[in-house]
Amino acid sequence: MTERKIKCIGVLTSGGDAPGMNAAIRAVTRTAIYNGLEVKAIYRGYRGLIINEIELFKTQNVSNIIQQGGTILKTARCKEFTTPEGREYAYGALQKEEIDALVVIGGDGTLTGARIFSEEFNFPIVGIPGTIDNDLFGTDTTIGYDTALNTIMQAVDKIRDTATSHDRLFFIEVMGRDAGFLALNGAIASGAEAAIIPEIATKDDQLELLIKNGFRKSKNSSIVLVAESESTGGAMGLANRVQIEYPQYDVRVTILGHIQRGGSPTANDRILASRMGAAAVDALLDGQRNVMTGIQDDEIVYVPFSKAIKNDKPINRDLLEMLRILSI
Ligand code: ATP
Repeated sequence: MTERKIKCIGVLTSGGDAPGMNAAIRAVTRTAIYNGLEVKAIYRGYRGLIINEIELFKTQNVSNIIQQGGTILKTARCKEFTTPEGREYAYGALQKEEIDALVVIGGDGTLTGARIFSEEFNFPIVGIPGTIDNDLFGTDTTIGYDTALNTIMQAVDKIRDTATSHDRLFFIEVMGRDAGFLALNGAIASGAEAAIIPEIATKDDQLELLIKNGFRKSKNSSIVLVAESESTGGAMGLANRVQIEYPQYDVRVTILGHIQRGGSPTANDRILASRMGAAAVDALLDGQRNVMTGIQDDEIVYVPFSKAIKNDKPINRDLLEMLRILSI
């Protein structure tokens, strides 16, 4: 079967929003228009295909958005798209709108949906990793991660002022849904004493190690970054344990929550998103399908969905050891 020539590209953002998504939308739109294609913006992720919230975009639609956090296309979690009936409906909408290919910007779930859909309907899709979690395999970093890391660093700097004034042990919970990148690198960047991350949760009792290693020996306050995770119980779970097992510590918890997703994207995220947006359109024009744009050693690469989704991205354990040394 000969592939249909691509004349119109649809673009959507899905799953959790991430700073820099707008820069990616801008790059997709402008690169496509530059190459003589039409661009249709789909609102609210996959839901937009189901409720038919689709708009033809011109270059002006993406003016003045590169500096804005969030996503002008809105995002949503769409249950219907996880069912064959929902996807059938979405395919109908794409046909009706004469959209020949999709660029989807989102995290692990978004790319999983894209993979299933593209296989079911033989529909060309290129994914762009937009998630603050940095948990996609095959790319050194994801859009939004750098901004979130900087937000965490600034928040921890502020918490440190109060932690030091009161001789307290602070557990600060950061996002990462079972990935410790934000916690580990956030800890290094803010000079925290330790990071408790899910990647090594099953191997050791990280809290016990922390206490055993005598943290706070030479300090009057301690800050530990904790990745949200069921396996460690997150910051609340650890604080509860400290209160019972080590009542001598005056422990406090801060859950940074959604401030980590917000804010104007950093230069790194804007540049990354611009490069990936342009690369996604180039890939579709080159006949590539079912790949995610990635960045490796500052070069754009294309990673098959199957690899990006399935593999657990490894965390650099040397950094954990370095963090331990630097916090003595
Ligand atoms: P983040 O990592 O920031 O949370 P995400 O892309 O992983 O972003 P999800 O909520 O997991 O966010 O997924 C976004 C959407 O992708 C879902 O609401 C659903 O519409 C679609 N999706 C996820 N998993 C599947 C699946 N197995 N089959 C079909 N669609 C899926």
